[in-house]
Amino acid sequence: MEEKIKVGVSSCLLGNRVRYDGGHKHDRYITDVLANYFQFVPVCPEVECGLPVPREAMHLKGDPDQPRLVTTRSSVDHTDKMQKFCDVKTRELENEQLCAFIFKKDSPSSGLFRVKVYGNSGQAQKKGRGLFASAVVNRFPLLPVEEEGRLHDANLRENFIERVYCYYRWQSFLEHEPDYKKLVQFHTRHKLQLMAHSPKHLAQMGRLVAAGKNMPRDQLLEQYQESLAEAMALKATVKKNVNVLYHIMGHFKTFLTGDEKTELSEVIEKYARFMIPLVVPLTLVGHYVRKYKDSYLQDQVYLEPHPAELMLRNHV
Ligand code: SF4
Repeated sequence: MEEKIKVGVSSCLLGNRVRYDGGHKHDRYITDVLANYFQFVPVCPEVECGLPVPREAMHLKGDPDQPRLVTTRSSVDHTDKMQKFCDVKTRELENEQLCAFIFKKDSPSSGLFRVKVYGNSGQAQKKGRGLFASAVVNRFPLLPVEEEGRLHDANLRENFIERVYCYYRWQSFLEHEPDYKKLVQFHTRHKLQLMAHSPKHLAQMGRLVAAGKNMPRDQLLEQYQESLAEAMALKATVKKNVNVLYHIMGHFKTFLTGDEKTELSEVIEKYARFMIPLVVPLTLVGHYVRKYKDSYLQDQVYLEPHPAELMLRNHV
């Protein structure tokens, strides 16, 4: 995959000095690792809506479902200005064909999860979402979104990047005159990946694809896309991966020798007991796939859902 994937990012995470205090929140994982694969589209909603650097700090206030964006010392309300900006900016982002957005945690404009919202008594509840992050999620409900802080957790990071690549493959699929036959191929390649995230969705999507031959194309693609995003948002746990690994072993059963079966099941069991990371059983599976040239497994995205150089499965 030569082309870099376009991903929106809170500008201060790239090291840009756009914060209220004139500083930044440079995140090295984003700029030194992910930047090799992603082309970032930076957005600082506070500066781009017309506020200066430096500026008075702000927080969210009032109803956590519809908070106001207010300066902390002089109580100037910037909500309307920010909302106007969000309308224009999210419309503009439709042309960028983003495959994900990485937000700065805790920010009243950019924070995605558990942002503090202050009540009249001055007590804060961690129940809010930054106004710009809300606008992005509302306009692009299927887009993979995450916060930089959570990307330091190996499981969340692997899950998010897997979703980004899956979203990217789906967008590429849509761009190349998708038809029923191509959807069947897309679904077939993603079967094991879907099984690792949600066996329930895999079954539902299998029924949808089977029934889809007689459905209007756009309706079929829309329903498939929604289920795909829903499934990929569910985490691939150790238990679900073990299920997939045994499924692969079952698929191999007529090829593998007795010793190879024993070796593979021992490695899967070690992974199930958290003694080794996912990359170990998958490396062995990859070896057997190459040795026995099984075309169904060779095509499975599950075996390489993102660049191996990111080493995401060495830690899950
Ligand atoms: S958190 Fe968002 S609004 Fe605040 S400085 Fe960073 S990009 Fe700008």
